[in-house]
This record gives sequence, C-alpha cells and structure tokens, in this order.
Amino acid sequence: MKEAIKKLRLSMEKKGIDASLITHSENIRYYSGFTGSSAIVLVLASEKYLITDFRYVEQAQAQCPGFKVIDAAGVKGFDFVFDRCKEFEAKSLWFEESTISYMYYSRLVERAATISLLADGNEISKQRLIKSEDEISNIKKAAQLADKGFTHLLGIIKTGMTEREIALELEFFLRRNGSEGLAFPIIAASGPNSALPHAEPSDRKLEQGDFLTLDFGCRIGGYCSDMTRTIAIGEPCEKLREIYEITLEAQKKALGILRPGISCKQVDKVARDHINSNGYGENFGHGLGHGVGLHVHEEPRLSPMGEGELQAGMIVTVEPGIYLPKLGGVRIEDLVAITSDGYSNLVTSIKDLVII
Ligand code: ZN
Ligand code: ZN
Repeated sequence: MKEAIKKLRLSMEKKGIDASLITHSENIRYYSGFTGSSAIVLVLASEKYLITDFRYVEQAQAQCPGFKVIDAAGVKGFDFVFDRCKEFEAKSLWFEESTISYMYYSRLVERAATISLLADGNEISKQRLIKSEDEISNIKKAAQLADKGFTHLLGIIKTGMTEREIALELEFFLRRNGSEGLAFPIIAASGPNSALPHAEPSDRKLEQGDFLTLDFGCRIGGYCSDMTRTIAIGEPCEKLREIYEITLEAQKKALGILRPGISCKQVDKVARDHINSNGYGENFGHGLGHGVGLHVHEEPRLSPMGEGELQAGMIVTVEPGIYLPKLGGVRIEDLVAITSDGYSNLVTSIKDLVII
C-alpha cells in the first residue's frame, strides 16, 4: 500500500496535481487497506487521510497504518477535504471521473471554491494495472482454489443435476476451503443455455449430449480469480466437438504470443482470426480477455478496442468462446500473469474436452 501511494504521488507530481480524492471502494482498499464500505481517502504530497464515520474508526485505525483516520460523516467529510486542501495550499484536486455520480460531482463543485477540480483520466485506477508480488500471490491462491473446486465438481456432476445445484455445490466447496466469497455469481450453463455467455444458473437438469459451461472465481485477500471450463455430459454431437476444438486452438494461439510489449488488440486478433477463419467469427461476440485484481473485470481489456500493451505484472484472462444459439456454447478461460519473458498460467485445470 505504501508503494501504491508512492506511485500515485509520482503520477500526481508529473501532472502537477496537488491532491487526490479517492472515492471508489476498490481504490480505497488498494491505497489504504481499508475494507469497510464507507470512506473516502485524501492524498496530499505530505499527508494522507482516511475519512470515515464512527462505525469504522477503530477498523480503519487497525487497517490503515500511516493514515490519519478522521471521523467525519457525509458533508463534514467534504468540508474536511477542502479545509485540508486550503491548509496545505493545494490548488488542484483529482477526482475519479469514471466512478463518481453527477450528484457527488455537483457537491464537490459547490464546495471547491478556488481549488481546481480535475478529472483524473483514470490515473487513480491505473496504478492498479501492474500487480505487486503480494497481489499476484493472492490471485494465484484464488486461482488454485478455483482449480480445486473444478476437480471437486468433476467428481460429482452427473445427468439429472440442475445448474443451480451445481453452482451451489461449487460455492459451498470454495467458501468452505477458504474463499472469502465469490469473485462474481457462478455461471453454470448447460445445453442450449451454454450458448448464453452470461447465463444465470436455472433449474434445468443436465442431459446426455449437453455442454456445461462453468465460469467462476474465488476471492483471497480481496483479490479475485476467474476461470471457465466447458465439459460434455455424455458424447457431444459433432458440431459441439468442432467448436470446442476451434475455441481451444484459438486460446492456445493467443496464449502463445503473450509477453510484455505486445498490444492488447493483437492478442485478441490472434484468437479472433482463428475463429473467423473457421467460419464462427459472428459467434464470438465478446472481447478475448480482461484484467483481474481487486475487481474481477478491470484494465487492461484484450479486445478489438483494447488500448495499450501488456506489461510484466499485469494479470489478464484469455477466454475465447463460440456460442451457437439453441445448441450450445464453449468458453475456455485461463488467468495468466505476464512475466518479464512471457507469462505464467495461474489456472492448471485440464483443457482437453472432459466427457462425463
Ligand atoms: Zn470468467
Ligand atoms: Zn473473465
């Protein structure tokens, strides 16, 4: 966290910004360590404050060493921020442009007086792009637990189980074995439902010939994991087998070029070209991958619109998919850490088609 504040101050200095107001919960956790649900953080060149209300003062004092913890709820918190800006002669204040509401912004404007409120260009969130060793270690643990959850499921899944039962069994296993919660609601989509990339688990029972897509993640130390496997319940038809092999090959091709310096667009393109050339381009309607950290979907985006290049320390998913309406779909998702000379795959579950 100290490193994170250092990086932020450096970025502020470069852009000539005197103060930052951090309001988004994941950024508050990233910079201060505070895990409660109500706080804002003010970072000045020489001081840093966590402003919360009386419910969280003790928790914040324990979780946020180096921060001055202030008990000032609501409007009082705003007043505190601008009073400190004045005291330290801060003339410009960054706010998080992507996450505050119009109402919140209006309240800031009302009180800013002579202090310039400046949109942060997402600089406050951008510091989270490159993960520290501790962050990577948490994400790796979360991915390893998810792998165990998948192995556990392979031992119990059978025809007749409902998607909801499968999701519940998986959640119970993950939480019982140390996951702080789910990274996001589990997707367990079978048969024609597997053609919906983000289907919600239903009462549909598994049938012979179904594909079953399982997309899920754990949370350890606040950090998420994310993986997807698609398995077959009994012998799948030729078409499903075909799209499985194409999806797997597309994923392998994208993984094969991961390294620092490669553009996010290019990684997406390699997988997309493979799927296109096999005639299923229209059935791969989402981006290839996304960053993962305190939030399950964060920067960078591996997609045709993705910006920037991969750098060592980034954590991204690689998850091509092909979805055939009314028949079924495939998605295969790994979570990887970009290293100085390539990548390390944090997901180790089997990727050759499993038939139960
Ligand atoms: Zn996923
Ligand atoms: Zn994902």
